[in-house]
Amino acid sequence: MVTDAPVVYLTWDLARPTIPPRSRLFHLEPLGIGTPDTESLTGYVARLAEAHGVATRQLVIHEILPLLGRPHLATTLDPNLLSAFWRNETRALNGTQTLAANLVRVLEHLTGRRDLRFLTLLPWAEVLPAYHLQRPSHAWCSACYETRRQAGQPVGEPLLWTLQPVTACPRHRRRLRTICAHPGCGRPSPPLGSRSRPGHCARCRRWLGGAQDVDLASDEALAHNALQAQTWIVHAVGELIAAAPRLATPPRREQITRTLAASVEQVTGGNRSAWARRLGLTTGAPDNWHPGTMRPSLERLLQVCCALGTTPLRFFLGDPGSADPPHDGLRIVPEGPPNPWRLRPPLHRLTMQRDLEAVLASDEQPPPSLREVAQRLGDTALYLRHHLPDLCRAISERHLSYQRARGSETRARVRDEVHRATYRVHAEGRYPSARRVSLLLSDPVSIRSKPARAAWHEALRELGWQP
Ligand SMILES: [Zn+2]
Ligand SMILES: [Zn+2]
Repeated sequence: MVTDAPVVYLTWDLARPTIPPRSRLFHLEPLGIGTPDTESLTGYVARLAEAHGVATRQLVIHEILPLLGRPHLATTLDPNLLSAFWRNETRALNGTQTLAANLVRVLEHLTGRRDLRFLTLLPWAEVLPAYHLQRPSHAWCSACYETRRQAGQPVGEPLLWTLQPVTACPRHRRRLRTICAHPGCGRPSPPLGSRSRPGHCARCRRWLGGAQDVDLASDEALAHNALQAQTWIVHAVGELIAAAPRLATPPRREQITRTLAASVEQVTGGNRSAWARRLGLTTGAPDNWHPGTMRPSLERLLQVCCALGTTPLRFFLGDPGSADPPHDGLRIVPEGPPNPWRLRPPLHRLTMQRDLEAVLASDEQPPPSLREVAQRLGDTALYLRHHLPDLCRAISERHLSYQRARGSETRARVRDEVHRATYRVHAEGRYPSARRVSLLLSDPVSIRSKPARAAWHEALRELGWQP
């Protein structure tokens, strides 16, 4: 039987739904965070470009460089500036310094993500050294690429592969490659290049993956000892990378000194020289590792940790290992990977000269100091000054005169502010004491500076408070 009873429908909710803020670029999820296979920030940039269907060059020039405060790299008529950026600076994008921190800030702003610092070594900035940390060129395991592609997984560039001490892939028992094996190419690429695409050569753009079962090229084959050492290194560094998101607070530099002291005490009863000799280090090494001076290079740190039966992560968290490590006599001898950029020294000098000239020709504000330039190029200021003294002097002088000009501007502003503040207190019918005047300044402490005191005395004299 059909009834005509009235039906009550749901009411419409006419309130507008709240739409969370949109990000300018895709909210692309990084690969492997919290695991040893975490991808690198430069690899993320290349994947982000691929996800948007644009070349890495376009993404970097139009979206990233302007927010990094360096749009001039792309707008200048001098193409050397941009090529120097790809070649020399992109390795620092995964590191522990300002450039990495700035890129994280820019990319998090563009993608709306909050976890991109884990794709760099920034969580370890306090305890890892700035130098000799990252290799200057792209390195890869061809079998890893191929495996991922065949499994239909996204191809990433692990942060592990950017680190100097990591020279092999223990999973596939082979050395990492740094030179493209394709006929007619045979070149190294920077960690991020204008044509970078995950898993591809940034020079010839061809796929870098290779079958696992083919005979290894001579530069990929790995001796048994080297494989053992690399297996330990990859585990130890991977542990560090995987632990970063779980750190409550980043480890402090003082912790190295404390763990070191504990180890020296435990191994040789407090005798630093004997401790160093026993671990195969120069006797001065432990003295140099105090806070404020040098930090051990990652290679040294791995060497020490392996000999003590601990790992860098445990060492940073306070575990000094033991006097008689339980492992089977494995020794890590820092070898340092060959640097493909420096295989041709005369060319390197020319490149260096071109890079310094490009820095001088740029209108970067503020002009960088020589130290900063050296850091970007992966050299020390001492080394640059030794080879190219004139160019280095010009860079230093430009930086200094900028600093001086800024200093005199600040002094003039302080004098003016103090002068006006003294008159104001006087106009209120009170004695313009230093304290009363300081309370009216944008930075009250600046009253203690020499120019401020001089301006104050001068105003007091003008107002008749002082003879
Ligand atoms: Zn591999
Ligand atoms: Zn190639």
